[in-house]
Amino acid sequence: MKRMMLLLLCLMMALPAGALADGAVTNFTLQGYQMGFSYSFDCDEEYVALEYATDAESGRMVLYSADGHFEGEGILQCTYASSKLRATVKTLKEKDLAKASATIPKSAMPEAAVEQEKVEKKVSKVNDLVCTPVQGGAHIEFTAEGHESVLIKYRSTQQRGETILYPGEDYTYSMDIPMPYTYAKQNIYIDVCRLSGSVLAEGQTYCGYELTAQETEVTPGRLTGVTVCIDPGHQGTHRTVTEPRGPGLSGSVSSSGGMAQGVVTRRKESIVVLEVAYLLRDELMRQGANVVMTRDSEEQWLSNIDRCNVAEQAGADFMLRLHCDNRENQNAYGIGIFCPLASTYAKEVAEYEVYKVWADALLAGMKRSVGYEISEKTGRTYFNNNYVGNNWAKMPCFLIELGFMSNNREDQLMSHPHYQQLLAEGMAQGVYDVAVIQGLIQ
Ligand SMILES: [Zn+2]
Repeated sequence: MKRMMLLLLCLMMALPAGALADGAVTNFTLQGYQMGFSYSFDCDEEYVALEYATDAESGRMVLYSADGHFEGEGILQCTYASSKLRATVKTLKEKDLAKASATIPKSAMPEAAVEQEKVEKKVSKVNDLVCTPVQGGAHIEFTAEGHESVLIKYRSTQQRGETILYPGEDYTYSMDIPMPYTYAKQNIYIDVCRLSGSVLAEGQTYCGYELTAQETEVTPGRLTGVTVCIDPGHQGTHRTVTEPRGPGLSGSVSSSGGMAQGVVTRRKESIVVLEVAYLLRDELMRQGANVVMTRDSEEQWLSNIDRCNVAEQAGADFMLRLHCDNRENQNAYGIGIFCPLASTYAKEVAEYEVYKVWADALLAGMKRSVGYEISEKTGRTYFNNNYVGNNWAKMPCFLIELGFMSNNREDQLMSHPHYQQLLAEGMAQGVYDVAVIQGLIQ
């Protein structure tokens, strides 16, 4: 018995806390019903992807669970005929963990579709395809006389799918295409095809998901009296600009606004950091801080010096600059914080040793929040003269790389609402810790 305990202990020790081990899936059950399915399984990964397919449609969902138990439902919109449903649980690094299958029972076709099957109609082309953006996806409408069903193929830079669609009355077809992983300013391309795949009509729209600022009131809290400037990096439109490197530094820096893009999600850095910035703003305001944002839409264009001016005019105590990193080595992951080193302004803010204590405290707050161990493996702080937007800051300034968009796992995490909230809470905790160290608050 004692030896068993010892063995168990050794096994537990072999897995360091916070290690990103690929989990095993147990108790995977899948149940099909008309136009949908339910799933349930246990896994020691916090985030997994569930991919599913029937004969008529397919999809993918990124799931989160705090306690290792996953359960929920998936919607099937167009699987009317009896079909096998196949589902795979994967890690976010695309490793298959478990497979299961179920049967989707036949369900009633739309009435008009059934009736029309008996009517002899001349098969015609589709030339009235209308695509419009709706919240969370796109809406399509068209008529296709004589076609008893069509295949809809849709794609954005972030996701793709296909589904069989049946007509309503008078061969009118209409559906909402759900695109939960496609965000603002992304085009959606839609092909209406015969079941054989040959194209009947092509359409295009953009995703209806809009990045809107949530209304939050400042409530008195532990950050009352503190003003934070949040600077979401980049923007939708590029413009090349050359600016002096920084006060007390020689030379100038030319920036084209080039940014990272998700290796899996294909999402743009400018959108991801804006989403996290909204959550951070709300979190800080809930804790009593005043918040100013350098930009709150994709359209706003600012140079790096403009961004510092926004912070200065707001009388900000801190400037947090949000970015996502990118590296050729796709294994690289973790959070990085970059601070200015030798600009006149940086030296007036604090000497290096003091600045580093603040940056380390902010980084630790973030790592604890997202569940990363406190070690250099999961990211570190850096001091250099590379960033114009750091060098011109007259207050403590932290350029935060939230994670790597070149890393499969972190790319998907940074677009997941739960992980985004953990990042925001971690930064708010870091701001609080630094403000206490500074004696700004009690
Ligand atoms: Zn960036």
